[in-house]
Amino acid sequence: MISASDRGAVVRDPVLQDSFARQVEYLRISVTDRCDFRCVYCMAEDMQFLPRQQVLTLEEIETLARTFVSLGVKKIRLTGGEPLVRRGVVELCGRIAALPGLRELVMTTNGSQLTRYAKPLVDAGVKRLNISLDSLKADKFRQITRTGDLSQVLQGIDAARAAGFARIKLNAVVMKGRNDEEVLDLVDYAVEKGIDISFIEEMPLGAIAEHSRAEAFCSSAEVREMIATKYSLVESAESTHGPSRYWRIQGADDSRIGFISPHSHNFCATCNRVRLTAEGRLLLCLGNEHSADLKAVLRRHPGDEARLREAIEQAMQRKPWSHDFRVSDDVQVVRFMNMTGG
Ligand code: SAM
Ligand code: SF4
Repeated sequence: MISASDRGAVVRDPVLQDSFARQVEYLRISVTDRCDFRCVYCMAEDMQFLPRQQVLTLEEIETLARTFVSLGVKKIRLTGGEPLVRRGVVELCGRIAALPGLRELVMTTNGSQLTRYAKPLVDAGVKRLNISLDSLKADKFRQITRTGDLSQVLQGIDAARAAGFARIKLNAVVMKGRNDEEVLDLVDYAVEKGIDISFIEEMPLGAIAEHSRAEAFCSSAEVREMIATKYSLVESAESTHGPSRYWRIQGADDSRIGFISPHSHNFCATCNRVRLTAEGRLLLCLGNEHSADLKAVLRRHPGDEARLREAIEQAMQRKPWSHDFRVSDDVQVVRFMNMTGG
């Protein structure tokens, strides 16, 4: 975009670009690898978390966010692990939201702490929220999350609706024989609450023993067929330049249905995002290990943002063209989703 400066000269907005001329405008930051849940598709039951000194400090996260925005990033999502278990995250949101040039700060959360934090997050400048919800049955919810309390999350969703976010979206990972029979109930719930819902295909991130990912795999096409038995869906032109595709529901104008299909790689050509792990590794593609250690640059050259900018620009040249997930139980990417910043 071109804007006019005070003196009338034309100033171009900065653009961060990879070697395929794709513009990277979207950064997802995992603010912690820790979580109060242990979802069966995301973590092992006895997860080992990072020692604190290996995790970026809040100041380091702020510096990285500022540097990315100065290079052309327009949207930042804070995620984890569970972002709301990190002390000081609301203040961090306020500082990131105030960065000149940032269009939107958003967050993904499991909802367990929202009765406390929904309003402070809105006040800090978080525009939209994604809240994970895989089941509306308390016992099933507990089985999937291993530690989660459904009523606490449902209260959190209501607190978020009351707090004034521009938009709220539920995220549900669908697993055959687990929660696939709840797809219509989850859509009914989203429609009743006037919020969006996305259904996610499980991704092969990290080794888990709890279930067979191949056997549990439920494709977006199957989920869409289930929904079509009750609702008329109209494909929407909205896209995220990522694996999400959206549909509108006839007669329910306040809710959209999304399908996140990471196994399809049709979206790689327009990929506009990179991810920063809790330990400061910049991941250039969800399904590949290509990365750059930005924490090392930060800690070796404290205060040297020019050096950081250079490291980020160089890393962009290594962003791969595409990933290729297969439906199988082989470990295709060794890191878990809580590390990746989903
Ligand atoms: N703790 C927060 C939450 O659960 O919303 C944010 C982090 S979590 C890693 C982000 C999203 O990734 C959640 O919606 C979760 O369901 C999804 N997720 C985790 N592991 C996944 C996997 N193996 N495949 C697909 N989605 C996964
Ligand atoms: Fe925690 Fe989110 Fe992973 Fe569940 S999906 S274990 S809530 S980080």
